[in-house]
Parts: sequence; structure tokens; C-alpha cells
Amino acid sequence: KGAPTMLSLDDVNTMLHEFGHGLHGLLAQVTYERLSGTRVLRDFVELPSQLFEHWALEPEVLKKHALHVDTNEPIPDALIERLQQARRFNQGFETVEYTACALLDMKLHAAGDGVDITQFEKDELARLGMPAGMVMRHRLPHFGHLFSSSSYAAGYYVYMWAEVLDADGYDAFVEAGNPFDPAVAARLLKYVYSSGNTLEPRAAYRAFRGRDPEVAPLLMKRGLIKEGQPA
Ligand SMILES: [Zn+2]
Repeated sequence: KGAPTMLSLDDVNTMLHEFGHGLHGLLAQVTYERLSGTRVLRDFVELPSQLFEHWALEPEVLKKHALHVDTNEPIPDALIERLQQARRFNQGFETVEYTACALLDMKLHAAGDGVDITQFEKDELARLGMPAGMVMRHRLPHFGHLFSSSSYAAGYYVYMWAEVLDADGYDAFVEAGNPFDPAVAARLLKYVYSSGNTLEPRAAYRAFRGRDPEVAPLLMKRGLIKEGQPA
């Protein structure tokens, strides 16, 4: 008999992420397959998955599932607090290295032919005011997302755009004062998880959230602004 298999917090996040994609398919109430489930715009497809990750760090969820392997004791509050704080570690660096890539991706795809890629990268980073000592997460000559196929060309921004949506979307539950609020959950099911590509994404989000997405919840989640501070 070997040691029991355990899930790391990363594993749990991945499981909830992929389960969110799964639910997007399972809960679909759409007639035509071409418009069903995850067959939505790339701008929108990571919302159901990334949103689902938020429940991983809900104390109520952790207390039920994060049990000590030997004693079966639920995870202590102090450890939950540390997990939540650790989520904001190094977010300034990560935001800058990612955003530089997303902005250069856009700029490059609008630049036309005959670009000297090394010079372009150097000039654009200088124009953006990239801090000395920081490099892009993916330097342009090896930026596989953009060049191995067309799927993320001029689309590298979608990861953080999805995070704007998931942070703002999860705030609907925070505002309701209950991570399982039935009314918010019902709107989320109706307009996001079950609607596939039958609704225009912005209209779907608005119907769920009651307004357009805002960036402040993302910045707060990353610890880049304080609560109540304008974005
Ligand atoms: Zn995903």
C-alpha cells in the first residue's frame, strides 16, 4: 500500500478550471451544436473556467474538502488566510511582464510587413517605459502563441481579459454576501453557463452582472489597488 494521493492547491485550481469548461458544455441549453457550450469567442471562453477557480479559496469550501490526511481535521483559519495572501505574491512583476507581451502582440500585428523584430521590440518596450531589468515573459522571436498558429495572434490579451471578467463576475457573489447566492447563481447559469454563443457576449455578461465589466476587481484581486480605491 502506497502513500495516499493528494492534490496540491495548483491541482485543485486546475481541476476547478477544467470543470468550469466542462460545466459550460454540460449545462448548455442550445439547439445548434455550432453555437453550444464552449464554442464561444476566445474573449469569452475562459470566463466559465476561470470564474469557477474562485471557489477553491472560499473558506466554506476549504473547510469541507481540505482535510488533514491523518487526522481528518479541517484546514485551520490561519492557513486559509495565508493562502489568500499568497495569491497576491509577485503580482506586480507578473502583471508587467504579461501586459508588455499583450501590448507588443497588438502593436506587432498592426505594424505591417518588413519589421526588424529586434529593433521593434527594443523601441516598443522603451516607448512603454518597461522597467530596466525586466524582460517580456515571451521575447518576440520565441513568442510561440503568436507564431506557431494564428489562434493567439493579436489575441494574447485574452488571458487577462478573462481575468477582468472572472474577478468582476465573482464580485457579484461577494456583493450578495454569499458565495452560493441562489439569485446570482441562477443569472450566471442562464446567461453564461447555459447560453453558449446564442447571446452576444457583452449582452450576456450585462444580463448576468447588471452592467459592463469593470477592471477594479482584477486589480484588487492582484493586490495592485486597495479596496475602494479607483482603478
Ligand atoms: Zn481554460
